[in-house]
Amino acid sequence: MATIGFIGLGNMGGPMAANLVKAGHQVQVFDLSAAALERAVSAGAQAADSATSAVKGAQFVITMLPAGQHVEGLFVTGDTPLFDAVESDALIIDSSTIDAETAKRVSAVGAARGIDFIDAPVSGGVGAATAGTLAFMVGATEAQFERAKPILEAMGKNIFRAGDSGAGQIAKCCNNMMLAIQMAGASEALNMGVRNGLDPAVLSEIMKQSSGNNWALQVYNPFPGVMPNVPSSNNYQGGFAVDLMYKDLGLAMDVSQQSGSPTPMGSAARALYMLHRKNGTGGLDFSSILKFYQEQ
Ligand code: NAD
Repeated sequence: MATIGFIGLGNMGGPMAANLVKAGHQVQVFDLSAAALERAVSAGAQAADSATSAVKGAQFVITMLPAGQHVEGLFVTGDTPLFDAVESDALIIDSSTIDAETAKRVSAVGAARGIDFIDAPVSGGVGAATAGTLAFMVGATEAQFERAKPILEAMGKNIFRAGDSGAGQIAKCCNNMMLAIQMAGASEALNMGVRNGLDPAVLSEIMKQSSGNNWALQVYNPFPGVMPNVPSSNNYQGGFAVDLMYKDLGLAMDVSQQSGSPTPMGSAARALYMLHRKNGTGGLDFSSILKFYQEQ
């Protein structure tokens, strides 16, 4: 069993750290939020008083932070860069969703100092983080990937090597652009059906068994009350914030520009989320895009 430093214990990081504890690892945790830290400790992790102490003696360091500036700040540009504190043979696994350019840049800074830093963003949401069934999309060398795999298997079910450094973030960005399009599409169809007198549960079941079937309808229905234990049935609390989805769609637009790839659907989804979050909904789960349709 390994000693693992885990930094960033929010909606995703908290349950991921808990699954590492369950798998028998020694997990040293840190978060800027005392409440998040407390939750991880009650799941059996050991609290550290700083990121620097969380990585002491750790063979693996996992980060689950909001965005690129947090990751680069923590490892490279902050007051106490973590690259100065990690063990020289540690493998750093960044599971945050960040831009591929930052992932590659931080990895290169680490590599110049002989430290391995790989990108391994996840898909599946809080449900999969809790169940230990996340999908990991990894940007790493084959050797780094093989080393990370047993650790990732304690938190996920499908572990993919997308390619070299940054490739995991590109895969994640493609996936989330499609997810946003799908969630907006499911909400658009459900709202139209309900305004025309259909029961949202009946319409959801019909589309699930028909060619409109998709992940949002299967496991994350945006219409309140159709599905238990999803954010829409809990006032859109928890889950994956609108602000984070908006960030991911911005990353997708950057990637589309850099590669000259047409993304009219992704661009429309980004515009929808931009209008939606202007209503003060940035902290709600992203399935709350249904409310945007309902308000029109
Ligand atoms: P979150 O906001 O719930 O958690 C982020 C945590 O990081 C917070 O607890 C915050 O206090 C902590 N943090 C920020 N800066 C820190 C620092 N310098 N040191 C220590 N702790 C720090 O976010 P989340 O929903 O858990 O998402 C985390 C990442 O995972 C994001 O990049 C997101 O895009 C991605 N993601 C989220 C989901 C989801 O369903 N929520 C799914 C897939 C991927």
